[in-house]
Amino acid sequence: MIERTNYSMLQHNTFGIDAATTCFIEYDSEEDLQEVRKRIAVAYHGLPILHVGKGSNLLFLENFQGVILHSAIKGITEISQTENEIYVRAGAGEVWDDFVDTCVKRGWAGVENLSWIPGEVGAAAIQNIGAYGVEAKDVIYEVECLELATGDKRIFSCEECHYGYRKSIFKEQLRGQYAVLSVVFRLKCSFTPNIEYGGVRKALTELGIEPDKVTMTQLRNAIIDIRKQKLPDPEVQGNAGSFFMNPVVEKVVYEQLAQQYDSCPHYDQPDGRIKIPAGWLIEQCGWKGQNLGPAGVHKKQALVLVNLGGATGEDIARLSETICRNVYERFGIAIHPEVNFIGKNGLIDVK
Ligand SMILES: Cc1cc2nc3c(=O)[nH]c(=O)nc-3n(C[C@H](O)[C@H](O)[C@H](O)COP(=O)(O)OP(=O)(O)OC[C@H]3O[C@@H](n4cnc5c(N)ncnc54)[C@H](O)[C@@H]3O)c2cc1C
Repeated sequence: MIERTNYSMLQHNTFGIDAATTCFIEYDSEEDLQEVRKRIAVAYHGLPILHVGKGSNLLFLENFQGVILHSAIKGITEISQTENEIYVRAGAGEVWDDFVDTCVKRGWAGVENLSWIPGEVGAAAIQNIGAYGVEAKDVIYEVECLELATGDKRIFSCEECHYGYRKSIFKEQLRGQYAVLSVVFRLKCSFTPNIEYGGVRKALTELGIEPDKVTMTQLRNAIIDIRKQKLPDPEVQGNAGSFFMNPVVEKVVYEQLAQQYDSCPHYDQPDGRIKIPAGWLIEQCGWKGQNLGPAGVHKKQALVLVNLGGATGEDIARLSETICRNVYERFGIAIHPEVNFIGKNGLIDVK
């Protein structure tokens, strides 16, 4: 167990916000986490607890007056294999992209489209991360957790996680109640490329690769290239990736919009509703490349808010609120942050 008091979270959030926490504790096994629980009961009784990963989807609005937990549980282990599938357990503290890299190198298919997403394995199961037509829920078999209040271990099947677009039971009914210890993935022994999303096919062709003959490694590398071109590197410019979720609207709302803007991009959803890219709505409001003080909108991707230097969480939140208001005034469509806002007592609901 590593314990630090009055600790700056600067190195633990990709927005580069210098907020402090009363206490930061890192543990590296289930037994260690049980010891952490005892330590909290003695030294920090009654203080709020917040579990974090790499902080690539967090926005600290102020100092956190409580205990922040971080998992350093490592390990990627093959558990069992059938003719077509392989079950693999990964520790919550594994870096997500290291896990993807291992899978691709060992020929375990299913996560290659999720290459180069920042963060850790535990958070991937909380967030239901997604990119290029794949979501974590498509490959998660079960999530092994520890209930922080009781110390009881519980295994959630993928169905019990109630996954949806960037959401899970851990972000709603059970918010803040469980620490993810490890995640079991169900992967495929043979590779079928999924390249019909986000310009992947075109990128492969431009690289001189015949799309239908692409290898898993080539696909991973192409996706990394696309992501590096499109998204700012948090090491260079603080950000948390897509700041807003794409709104899903009733068909009639989209049809009204399409009458005014025939260029409006849209994606049909299985329930008959329509997903509209939030980035497009924000760009139409003229925000791309603009800023409010040290909080900016990325010049290549309007969905990404950036720290132009020295921004506070409040600066970023002010820009977010202004953009949401402008989009609503112009289109009558509400957009909401995907990023988790953290106040002095923990996660804050942003409507
Ligand atoms: C440049 C960039 C690109 C991105 N691209 C994508 C993308 O393509 N697709 C996508 O879905 N996301 C993307 N993101 C967002 C981010 O990478 C994901 O949300 C990621 O899963 C966050 O992981 P993390 O370890 O940083 O978690 P954090 O941001 O630290 O935490 C996220 C949530 O998980 C909880 N949590 C973390 N670990 C645990 C644990 N072990 N137990 C219990 N709760 C835990 C936290 O309380 C919080 O609610 C991007 C971010 C950046 C900066």
